[in-house]
Formats: sequence, C-alpha cells, structure tokens
Amino acid sequence: MKKIQSNGVLRKSGKLFTIAALLIALLAMTGCADKVRAFNRPSDTQAWGALIDGTKGGAAVNDERRLGTVQSLNVGNFTTGGASNEEVAAFTNRRAVKLVENVNWTNADDDIADINFPAEISVPVTVWIVKGPFNAQRNLAIDHCVTTSSIWQSERMGVRFSQFEIVDATGDPDASDYFDFDCSMRADIQNDIGRRSNRINVYWVDTVDGGSSRGQACAFGSDFVAMGSTANDELLVHEFGHNFDLEHVDGQATFDNTNIMESSSSTREFITEGQLFRAHLDGNSALNGVYNARAGEPTRTCSHGADNNNCPAINTRIWADGAFPAN
Ligand SMILES: [Zn+2]
Repeated sequence: MKKIQSNGVLRKSGKLFTIAALLIALLAMTGCADKVRAFNRPSDTQAWGALIDGTKGGAAVNDERRLGTVQSLNVGNFTTGGASNEEVAAFTNRRAVKLVENVNWTNADDDIADINFPAEISVPVTVWIVKGPFNAQRNLAIDHCVTTSSIWQSERMGVRFSQFEIVDATGDPDASDYFDFDCSMRADIQNDIGRRSNRINVYWVDTVDGGSSRGQACAFGSDFVAMGSTANDELLVHEFGHNFDLEHVDGQATFDNTNIMESSSSTREFITEGQLFRAHLDGNSALNGVYNARAGEPTRTCSHGADNNNCPAINTRIWADGAFPAN
C-alpha cells in the first residue's frame, strides 16, 4: 500500500512540473500583455479604473474600461496607428483625475503605461451668511459642506476643502438688498458684502430666483454661488458642479435624480466618469480657472454631448451609479 501511494504522489507532481514548464515556455515565447500601472493610490488595495485609447487588431479602440484593485492591470495588446488617440484616463478615490497622453503602445505586447495619480486637489471656499439667523444658517452651510465632501470622496471627485470659511455678514447694512437674489445682483453682492479672490465665494441669502430651496452659480466655471435659506444639503455639490463647468443631465436616458447634475432633486449622490473627466480637464472649470489647481496637466474642451476620441461620453461609467451599470 505504501509503495503504491508513494508512486501516485510522484506521478502527480511530475505532471504538475510538466504543465508549469510548458506555461513558462509559452509565456516566454509570446510575452504577456500590455499593462497599465497605478502609482500614488491612497492604499495598495484601493480600487482604480481606467479608460484606455489605442489600436487593437488594427481597429481603433476608444475608452476601453478597466477596473481593479491591484497596481498593475493587464489590458491585452494595444498598438499605435489606428484612428484613435493613445492615452489613458484614470480615476480613483481621493486623487485627482489623471490623463496620460501619447502612450507608446507598440506591436509588442509588453508595453507599460504608468499612471501617477496627482494628489487630491484642496480648495478653499468662503461662505457669506447674508440672511440670518447666523447660527442656524452656519449649521446649514456646514451640513452642505459635509454632504459635498462625502459625495466627492465616494465618487472619486479628487477634490477636498482645504478651508470652509463661514463669515457672518448678517450685520452688513446692505445685506437686506440681497435677501431675494437673482443673477443680475452678482457683481453688486460681491462689492457690497465681500469677496475673497482665487476661490469660490458662496452667498447664503433667503430666496434665489424666487425660491428658498434654490441655488445659482450664475455661470459655468464661475467662482460664485448663491444659496437659498432652506436648500437641501446636497444642493451645494450641484452648484459646485456648475463651477466645474458641468451642465444639467435632466431628461437624459441614462441619468436620473441620483446624479449631482439633475436640476431638481433631493437625492443627488453620483458623478459619472464622463463628468469627472470634464470637471478636471475642461479649461473653463474652476479647478483650472479659479484655482489653477492642475498646472502642467492637460486640458480638453469637451462639450456636454461630446463622445469621441478626445472626450468620453457624459454618461461614461467605470463604476455603477445606482440603477445605471458600468458601461
Ligand atoms: Zn443647476
């Protein structure tokens, strides 16, 4: 019995050895795969995702999705020469969006594209409480700050507040001129109440465009927000979306009122990768214009509806957003 058992074990390990040797020989002959590698994630196990452009099998490939938790992801054999860009856009939590242009995809299948995630972008914001009571409205502003930070963090916005300054302007003799705000008052409220340069200034009034639950950024890419006195605590992340040059997604088939850029909602929580790409890359975004927070990084002009080699569609998702799956 002993002898038979012993022979059996020997035979098994012999087979294993043969298979392993064959695999090693095969890999040596064919290479493995092109890779994208992530550096400077918040942790070694932090999920990250990529949209990859290049050529595969002679055909242009635009925004091939990859998602993983390890540093190096195999992406097959990308080459150069088709009607595509050669680039990788990458996303992860608590880091700025990274676009690596002009990746050197070759005919060999051992190319490596390295993604060095930039630090999370820190932005100061000043909130002017124009209509009191100050303590209650300060608490409301803090609720908005907390909710905005939470959504940015979970949705990979790559932006955090370095300062959320709250100024009591309720005693300003001009304050009541702006209780019922519309955008025609934008310059005057800043002259009369105050304004800090090189940052977004938020003015907490009573009504905006006639509604106490409304807000206004007054322009795409602006450094300005006005907020109504009873605004739901996820409205500020929406207005900052306009500051980051994002447009409304109302009525679009692959959006609902869980997206931050739905104009009328109290359940905003998701940001697509198409939106993250625009918020960071668009030269008109406050991240570039107001904060100059991406010096040396590439910019792209991507209209809301653009869907091409240079611009992922606005509904591009590497991660599912509620009812809408990754696509
Ligand atoms: Zn809006």
